[in-house]
Amino acid sequence: MNRLMKNLYDNLDEAKAFGISFTNFAYFYDDLNTWDFHTRICNMCRRTYQSQDYLAPRVSFKKPTSILESLEFGVSQELRDDLIEKFDTTEKDFRPIRSKRGEIVYYQITPQHVMQPLHEVNEWPQKDPCVACGSIQYGFHEQLNEKGEYFYYISQDALNDMHDLNVTHEQFRFYMPMYIISRRLFDYLMELYPRTHYVPFYLK
Ligand SMILES: [Zn+2]
Repeated sequence: MNRLMKNLYDNLDEAKAFGISFTNFAYFYDDLNTWDFHTRICNMCRRTYQSQDYLAPRVSFKKPTSILESLEFGVSQELRDDLIEKFDTTEKDFRPIRSKRGEIVYYQITPQHVMQPLHEVNEWPQKDPCVACGSIQYGFHEQLNEKGEYFYYISQDALNDMHDLNVTHEQFRFYMPMYIISRRLFDYLMELYPRTHYVPFYLK
């Protein structure tokens, strides 16, 4: 069982935004892996983009929130519909995941709103750009609280510019970004699913 967020962070009330860190693992079909859904765009750094919707068996999704085999995140159809109705999110912020028969079984979270850069406020080091395509990845400067839990910082400008569902400007290892939600969406989800996990961002 997950430990509750409020036990991991004494100052949770002060956090302004939250990185998604769901822990229920959901896998694709046995004969498919993440790269089968991606197309390579640079042979030097092996950068790819997702060129097809993911395919996964319905039984893979046991909870309303999941981390996908691709290490991205997803939500149930019911939760996706709820979020579109009540929050500053649209259909484009969610990409269908289908069964091999073509039925939508779950939704991948694909936030369209790119946040303002956070690398300076977090001291995330920029790696050398790819010499072929110029793409940039960042490393982490990891900050831990007194209980050994991760947290990050957000600037007031970035906070002012946020939507309810966001993706970081920065991409990290494997060109993976972070997915960040607003305080009000966090409060809503914690009420519904108190055991889901997030990484808090504090104002700096
Ligand atoms: Zn490249």
